[in-house]
Amino acid sequence: MASSKGVNTTAHINTLHQRLYHALNLGFRVCDEKEKKWTCTDIEIQRHVVKSISAFLDCFSRATANNRLIKDSIADIARALVFILGCKNRAVVGSAANVVIKLIRIVPPSILQSYSLDLVESLSHLLSCQQLEVSLPCAVALNAILVNVRETKEKQVWKILEDAKAVFSVVANLQNFSEGSISVEWFQEMALLLSTVMLKWPQSRFSVWNNPALMVMLESVSQKPDMGLRFATLKIYSSVALCGHGASELLDNGKPMLDMMISCMDESSPQNARIEGLKLAQRLATGNRECLKMINMCTEPLVNATVRTMSKWFSSAGKLEHDQMSLLVEACKLALITRWEGKHHIYFWKYRISEALLSLVVEDFHSQSLDGYASLEEEISTAEKVLNANFLPSLRSYVWDIIGYLAAHCEEEFDSILHGDELSLNFLVTCACLTFSKSVQKGYQICQNDIVSASQSESASRTVLMMIYSPSKYISSRARVTLSFILEEGGEQNLNSLVNFLSFIPSSGGYILPNILQTTVCLVGLACYSSIPQYARFILRNQGLEILLSFCSWYQRNRENIGASSFAPYPQSIAEKRICCWACTEDWDNKDAFLLYALLALAELVNHSFSEQNHAKEPSMKSENLKDRLCTTLQEIRDGTYGSGPRWYAAHILSYLGYYGFQHKLGKRLMAAYEDEECSDMRLLFASGNSVSVNKVIIAVRCPMLLPPKEGGHSGSTISTENFHRTVQEIRMSANVDTLALVKLLEFAYSGYVEVESSTLKKLKTLARHCKAKVLLQMLCRRRPKWGSSIPRIDIPLALTPKLIRFSDVILLPKEANMAGFNCCLCSSTSPHAHSHRVILSSGCEYLRALFRSGMQESHMDRLNVPVSWLGLTKLVSWFYCDELPNPPSGCKWNNMDTEAKLHELQAYVEIYSLTEWWIMEDLQNDCAQVILSCLESARELSIKTIELAASFSMWKLVEAAANHAAPIYHQLRDSGELDELDDELVNLIRTAAVQFSQQGG
Ligand SMILES: [Zn+2]
Ligand SMILES: [Zn+2]
Repeated sequence: MASSKGVNTTAHINTLHQRLYHALNLGFRVCDEKEKKWTCTDIEIQRHVVKSISAFLDCFSRATANNRLIKDSIADIARALVFILGCKNRAVVGSAANVVIKLIRIVPPSILQSYSLDLVESLSHLLSCQQLEVSLPCAVALNAILVNVRETKEKQVWKILEDAKAVFSVVANLQNFSEGSISVEWFQEMALLLSTVMLKWPQSRFSVWNNPALMVMLESVSQKPDMGLRFATLKIYSSVALCGHGASELLDNGKPMLDMMISCMDESSPQNARIEGLKLAQRLATGNRECLKMINMCTEPLVNATVRTMSKWFSSAGKLEHDQMSLLVEACKLALITRWEGKHHIYFWKYRISEALLSLVVEDFHSQSLDGYASLEEEISTAEKVLNANFLPSLRSYVWDIIGYLAAHCEEEFDSILHGDELSLNFLVTCACLTFSKSVQKGYQICQNDIVSASQSESASRTVLMMIYSPSKYISSRARVTLSFILEEGGEQNLNSLVNFLSFIPSSGGYILPNILQTTVCLVGLACYSSIPQYARFILRNQGLEILLSFCSWYQRNRENIGASSFAPYPQSIAEKRICCWACTEDWDNKDAFLLYALLALAELVNHSFSEQNHAKEPSMKSENLKDRLCTTLQEIRDGTYGSGPRWYAAHILSYLGYYGFQHKLGKRLMAAYEDEECSDMRLLFASGNSVSVNKVIIAVRCPMLLPPKEGGHSGSTISTENFHRTVQEIRMSANVDTLALVKLLEFAYSGYVEVESSTLKKLKTLARHCKAKVLLQMLCRRRPKWGSSIPRIDIPLALTPKLIRFSDVILLPKEANMAGFNCCLCSSTSPHAHSHRVILSSGCEYLRALFRSGMQESHMDRLNVPVSWLGLTKLVSWFYCDELPNPPSGCKWNNMDTEAKLHELQAYVEIYSLTEWWIMEDLQNDCAQVILSCLESARELSIKTIELAASFSMWKLVEAAANHAAPIYHQLRDSGELDELDDELVNLIRTAAVQFSQQGG
């Protein structure tokens, strides 16, 4: 870099270097032989040194930073600056911080690393300084250092930032901002610093989103027209959204923020604001629930802005500017919100997503026209040329994933909303099919090291799969036709090699997949080709069913060794790795994807062999042995801990064999209640004279059509009988109702699962249709599961909603008789209580079942005292109705709770634990123990109080477990005097645990 006078010669640099050392030497003190320290508190000397450093640095730029003079003097410069900043002399620290900025711009981060901790420490203490001339350069310098902090040093740096209350200072600074009095630049730099800190250190996020005053202030600033201010708030928002709790906080009343975000995505906005807007939207969409929440507030404008960004860009000679490219990447990442079902899909079609995607595949797309293909052959050859040109290869796998998800989620009759986008869609289908069949043909030659082409192969394969299995007949048949056409000649040969490859995996005796990418392509290939009848026949003849089944069993045995498929667009890789507090439900297909693909193929083959059986005898399913193996394997998958996709498909295939639905613990519990006539309150009488006893509340939730019209009113066909203080209502069923079918329907209503002989199938179908039992009907009709649908639950919590609360027959009372602010949304009583149902309570608790039917006084009362706190009671009720014990607050929320609040949570579980001893509920007890121990894991300081608490309930197993948790910090506890409050017996217990702990080597 030439200086202003153009005399930046070696001689000039040498002079400045001499002057620098002349100044520096005024402050050096030699401590010992190795080290000299720079310590000088004289303001004038400090000022002189800062000026000399500045003048010296002005001779260099990043390009000339490897000059020996600068390399050799960095250590001395850094020492002096650290000391001067540490002195906090207002008159000089501002310019010192400015010199640090200069230094960072010139010297590469790797060289500065060894001084970064000291610099961070001195700079972060100055952030609270009221003078703008000080805090502004300090924020800029600190940000520049933090951006480059190495991962290995992050822990140390956080400790420094925490001790200096850096986040607190920055937040306070931002809160003091008011436009006009302070410069926009200052606000921006503070915001950038805060955003960097939040990005790197998740611990800092809570204090930002949990500060309502700051959030209100940010919202008002973000609504100002100044683009700089908007960008700054976007930066903060998008860092906050890395925390799941933070994101849902942002989305509560988030409309103004979302509107601002979308307006920043517009072409008229500066590049950095557009990118930041897209990033914020992506992060808010990390989880399905939050994504839908966002979409519900701004579907159309959000989708419009995304698609526009993808289609309105310019290139010159096939090359994109770097910033155009990053914009496109962010827009494509955002468009992956199509992986979730929702109302945004139709808007993607409305704004012509196929055209936008095609413009990223076909070079110079806007000047080409797609119409005029006389034949599929012609279209395929054009597609071949386009793919060979390899335009924007790094975007290709996004293109496939996006169109694949759109295809998987569209409606059956969706072509009506295509709005003339058919030609683009057709061409995309052709391109995807072509890429996929190339990958199949390559076989062993697929190169996993070429990441771009490998990820293209995988995503194109997955996409063709989603197209073929699309609910839209249009897309599905288009994909099938194209694929068959491409496959025409080498079809059977290709299929043969796929089948051989797959059969090799289980037979080789290995524990890992030979080649992840090739396995994916192979399984997807089989799943796609099986949907085409002629190939399904071929695969069946070649033992395809047995081979797929063996693969499934092999997968089950070796699941632990098999990673995810390599290039799937998982939410975690879409957003950054540094997310916290996101309880991401796994996508349908990202857990056990290999198993899902295998089951898709299996489903087609089973379907094929069943329909063939009606005409000619195919060899495939006649072996009973094979059928048994198929059943066992599928049942294990359906009831196991696999992803929802594989579990759904296992259940789907089982429906061909007479098994319908999913087995749950809750279902089994309710089934026991169904079989127990004594707890029923309604009897269905058949014309034949037979009858079944049921429970109104369960019928009301699961099959309301069976309830008599105007339940509770007088109806001609119902009679009530008093019996042991129970009123049983009787309903005469019409003679048209088939008894067996109705019993099966009820079985499904109670348990979510039923086995049906083929002779009853038709009648049950009619009944299920009449009763609007959607899930059962779908399975009876053997409709393919919808991509992404979750495992159906038994929705008993509905019984606690106002609409159905009239069936409640018992009220649970917690320990507290009074609680400020208690409000029941179901009745007017103001003392804490929970409405409940005897049948549900009995189904989960043997003790209560016995109590309710004992005839003792308590059994008739409509109130039951439960010796737990209100918090405990809510958790208990949730367990009874969902078969799931709610967890305490997680992540940032839990970490930021004080000990008292944590104990309050913990106490609820300890109380339930104690109750389960008395009520004899082993499952619940185990669940409680698990929650308690995992709380202790994350907060060892709670162990002593937990030991006390558990001891007061005489729960010795729990005391012992908590003592084991306290063991590693025994010495700390003893020295701090915390143990003094405990009984000697308990102290002994912890000491014994500590001795054991140290004997086992810590
Ligand atoms: Zn968090
Ligand atoms: Zn109430």
